[in-house]
Amino acid sequence: MQKEKVIIIGSGPAGLTAALYTARARLDPLVIAGNLLGGQISLTSEVENYPGFPEGTTGPELGELMQKQAERFGARFVMDEVTEVDFNQGSPFRIKTLEDEYEAEAVIVCVGASPKRLGVPGEEEMIGRGVSFCATCDGFFFREKDVVVVGGGDSALEEGLFLTRFADRVRIIHRRDELRAGEALKRRAFANEKISFVWDTVVEEIQGNGKVQKVLVRNVKSDATSELETDGVFIFIGHYPNSDLFKGQVKMDDVGYLLTDERMMTSVPGVFAAGEIQDPVFRQIATSVGQGCAAAMMTERWLEAQE
Ligand code: NAP
Repeated sequence: MQKEKVIIIGSGPAGLTAALYTARARLDPLVIAGNLLGGQISLTSEVENYPGFPEGTTGPELGELMQKQAERFGARFVMDEVTEVDFNQGSPFRIKTLEDEYEAEAVIVCVGASPKRLGVPGEEEMIGRGVSFCATCDGFFFREKDVVVVGGGDSALEEGLFLTRFADRVRIIHRRDELRAGEALKRRAFANEKISFVWDTVVEEIQGNGKVQKVLVRNVKSDATSELETDGVFIFIGHYPNSDLFKGQVKMDDVGYLLTDERMMTSVPGVFAAGEIQDPVFRQIATSVGQGCAAAMMTERWLEAQE
């Protein structure tokens, strides 16, 4: 059993910032990074709204810089996945991973959220065969091809725009006739000649023989069904919180977002949470960074008060 002062679970912007601040506070944090170092930003192509980067940056680049900065002050990282937590006895908290067992005086939960699935036939089987949740990872494979993007929010438009660097045609399939995305992205998407919109339409099935060949769609107003031939289906329809691990351990809302107070503390004293795991509203890199910072500062104060 490894004994630690502070364990941070998750390595997205919230976890990396919590690592930086707790490291600078000399709490010698250990980050259990999960299987995706950097979290969701490592799947994000362009980041144009994080302050300090006037020309924009990429998610992976930003994650790497944040990690380096935390490491410079002594934060340690393990690429391992938490499989079980026991917060019921209070501090020290027990954490099991695939490789180890830990005890931590305080824990900061920054496990974020994961992309939602459509839940239609063909989706699961075709992942990696034309179905993708990450334009940064897979866009390159669709050079001079046809792709469809599902969703009408910022992610769908941002990733759809990114895909125009590779694909010849990007059709964005949205279930309404009005986009949820913000004005700046809307303007860019409408102005892009490679992008067109399929309004009021839902995907009912993804078909192909070993790789994606077409999607079956239905117009929700006319109920008419049709087929769209395509090489790739990129799905950006929102996220769900990765909170299964914490069921029965800390209080959460109906959807599964962890409930925190104004000090970023969960219902268990000494267990804090930051980033998308406790924030269904803002979900920006900038807000996750702020929450990670706040959770780290409150962790420091809480530990001090225990001494
Ligand atoms: P989102 O804002 O929740 O949008 C999800 C989109 O998918 C909506 O258009 C929704 O349709 C659609 N959708 C949801 N479930 C669906 C289903 N089962 N079938 C078909 N369509 C479905 O998610 P997001 O775009 O990932 O953005 C998440 C957060 O990150 C937001 O706060 C966003 O502002 C932020 N973000 C910001 C940027 C940026 O500022 N550059 C970039 C990416 C993300 P309805 O509209 O009909 O609900």
